[in-house]
Amino acid sequence: MATLPQRPPILRPHLPRISNLIPLPTRVHCSATAPPKLNPVTSRPPQLNDPTLKSNWTHRAWVTGGCTTVLIALAKSAIGVAGSHIWLEPILAGSIGYLFADLGSGIYHWGIDNYGGQKTPIFGPQIEAFQGHHKWPWIITRRQFANNLHALARAVTFAVLPIDLVCDDPVLLAFVGVCSGGIMLSQQSHAWAHTTKSRLPPLVVALQDGGVLVSRSHHAVHHRSPYNSNYCIVSGVWNEVLDRSRLFEAMEMVIFFKFGVRPRSWAEPNSDWTEDAQKIALET
Ligand SMILES: [Zn+2]
Ligand SMILES: [Zn+2]
Repeated sequence: MATLPQRPPILRPHLPRISNLIPLPTRVHCSATAPPKLNPVTSRPPQLNDPTLKSNWTHRAWVTGGCTTVLIALAKSAIGVAGSHIWLEPILAGSIGYLFADLGSGIYHWGIDNYGGQKTPIFGPQIEAFQGHHKWPWIITRRQFANNLHALARAVTFAVLPIDLVCDDPVLLAFVGVCSGGIMLSQQSHAWAHTTKSRLPPLVVALQDGGVLVSRSHHAVHHRSPYNSNYCIVSGVWNEVLDRSRLFEAMEMVIFFKFGVRPRSWAEPNSDWTEDAQKIALET
């Protein structure tokens, strides 16, 4: 039986939100400017052992494609390094790539958490899946590996394959390989952040404790009201910076005043994001 991750108290001081400090025009209350809500028909949780949580051959094919393109980038980088004997730059580039992967995961997560709906072109299924994730966070721990990763693996395949074909620079390939690999595996580190410690491999626990992977307590804050922090899900190293700088809140204000669209995180209490305690009680 899966159990909920332990949730220590929030250590970060509570800061008033920009959207609460700035008087907004009346249309902020108009539902027409809000992102679409979930379709009630599809807003029911899957059952335990539901087939939609299992990997199929299409999922496995995309994950295989994504892993292959990432490994080709890393292999070409290693071959270039061996030939040139220049180690420092590729290692630095790979490290920066890992930082960018965490930052990219946060920006992408913020975007699909707050804007668009299930009918949004290209991103619709991801938006719906992330909204469902807020309602039933435990589901991600029940998804099979390829089922959880295939959408990002497909994007990585399309983005990295052309670079593999035309690029021979070991420094750039190190950056691309580590960054794209981190992005592709971000949903796995996200799943581990929802898994209880007793069910995780010791190496994963060590990497979480060391800050290499986003920790369970760190990510748990994202699933608590007001649902507008800790978006990064690779290492989580950017969360403190992004949340303290209020970059996302500033971007939300710009989008609101420019396009009249308010993010989902402004709606409080937000029933779409509130965890379904009844289902969790059944599951535990
Ligand atoms: Zn989220
Ligand atoms: Zn989560």
